[in-house]
Amino acid sequence: MDLRHPARHKSDTPLHLVPPGGIEAGRGERRPPLPSFRRYPLWRVVGLDSLTVAHFALGCAAVLLAWHTRPLVAWPVALAYVVFAVVQTFVLTPLVVCPGCVYRAIAGARCPSALNLLSARLCPPVSDTAEFRHRTCGSLGQTSLSLCSWVFPVAATAAGLAVHLAWPAVVLTAVLVASLALRLILERTALCPRCLSRRWCPVAHVVRAA
Ligand code: SF4
Repeated sequence: MDLRHPARHKSDTPLHLVPPGGIEAGRGERRPPLPSFRRYPLWRVVGLDSLTVAHFALGCAAVLLAWHTRPLVAWPVALAYVVFAVVQTFVLTPLVVCPGCVYRAIAGARCPSALNLLSARLCPPVSDTAEFRHRTCGSLGQTSLSLCSWVFPVAATAAGLAVHLAWPAVVLTAVLVASLALRLILERTALCPRCLSRRWCPVAHVVRAA
């Protein structure tokens, strides 16, 4: 099977070329010890997506609890956060970034979050590798937006606790931080190192930056 990204014939720049052994080391990365997954096992995908949804729900609950003395602040902020996080993760990323990902180019492939499958239902693939790379970068790029969707509830809850300290909110914030840490550890050790698109996927960028 030819694993070169289809854009190569246009830009002459291989986006992500998997050598015959299936192992590829990006710039500055240590060579991963295991082959990359073309199709991630379902349990890994379900685990990652469950953590994502749980983080958004926990984040919303933590903001509501931390700001419960000011409901006019709590509800708009919490709801705006959930809408932003869900749209950014499950609509914008599949529409804006995933169409140029190598997982869209390989038949039967499934990326760590299965967003390539969602993307395939939403829009056709694109073969512009430069565009794929640029869309993950910049202050309004998908990497920055992904980072916001992960850390915003922690910052908003901390601000709420500074205004009014409430122990249930402290406990929920601790659970939120623990779930974020667990996600980062799992992605760093078990998911992203085996991803064919880890050089450019916004999720992998956030994990590397953390
Ligand atoms: S690996 Fe990243 S960029 Fe590629 S399809 Fe999955 S979520 Fe999208």
